[in-house]
Amino acid sequence: MTTGIIGGGIAGLSCALALARCGHKVEVFERAGAFREVGAGLQVGPNAMSALAELGLARRIAELAVSPPAIRIHDGLSGNLLSQLQLGPEFENRYGQPYRVIHRADLLRVLVEKAAETRNIQLNTSHELIALKQDGKTISATFANGATTSHDRLVAADGVHSVCRKLVFGGKGPVYAGHTLYRALCPIEDYSWLTHSDCVHLWLYPGGHIVHYPVSSGKQMNIVAAVEQ
Ligand SMILES: Cc1cc2nc3c(=O)[nH]c(=O)nc-3n(C[C@H](O)[C@H](O)[C@H](O)COP(=O)(O)OP(=O)(O)OC[C@H]3O[C@@H](n4cnc5c(N)ncnc54)[C@H](O)[C@@H]3O)c2cc1C
Repeated sequence: MTTGIIGGGIAGLSCALALARCGHKVEVFERAGAFREVGAGLQVGPNAMSALAELGLARRIAELAVSPPAIRIHDGLSGNLLSQLQLGPEFENRYGQPYRVIHRADLLRVLVEKAAETRNIQLNTSHELIALKQDGKTISATFANGATTSHDRLVAADGVHSVCRKLVFGGKGPVYAGHTLYRALCPIEDYSWLTHSDCVHLWLYPGGHIVHYPVSSGKQMNIVAAVEQ
């Protein structure tokens, strides 16, 4: 049985690796000209770490990620510490995996490297899906570059603005919920004044919050500001 996967992001590549482990032949079709190593920080909880460990990626992820010792929640106006969740050995024993934070580019690179060396996986870039056709047995995909393919099954992993979802179910796509995120990455040296800089920090404000934590093996600080419009 052959499987086509539309979208070579985190979900598409993870799905490809999981199917290949079960002996399936998989082709991934990514719209971009390369598997783009962009983005900023991602928090990877123990459930996601379990899945990545199952794919044989735990050691490589550990090299690139940071394991924060705690999540510290503050009142953003007074600066007071409201609560603290310890993420140390007790947490890891309880949930079976650590809590890690990683740059999206690092996570994607680990997935791409593993997929590229996996015999059952073929990676295709510059393949933007534009049409789908299903008959009794197969599903055919047409791409903007003129290529067409046929598979026994097709996985839609083309993200929040999914073309697959629109083609199958119709609809207008996501609706803006009134929350905007601003993201930044800064050299960690700029934060030498910050205490507990190895932790995840959450600062709560009326109408928004700020989260920051180190990524890139501790070399950069990832900052996210969420604002209600
Ligand atoms: C460039 C980028 C940067 C991001 N950075 C962050 C971040 O810093 N922090 C954070 O928390 N979240 C980030 N996200 C969101 C986060 O990665 C997603 O919420 C999560 O990865 C969902 O994974 P996904 O694989 O479902 O979708 P995505 O990661 O969005 O991947 C979908 C993939 O499908 C491809 N695709 C889309 N349409 C088509 C098509 N028609 N044909 C073929 N391929 C198609 C896209 O190019 C993309 O590679 C980012 C997403 C992207 C795409």
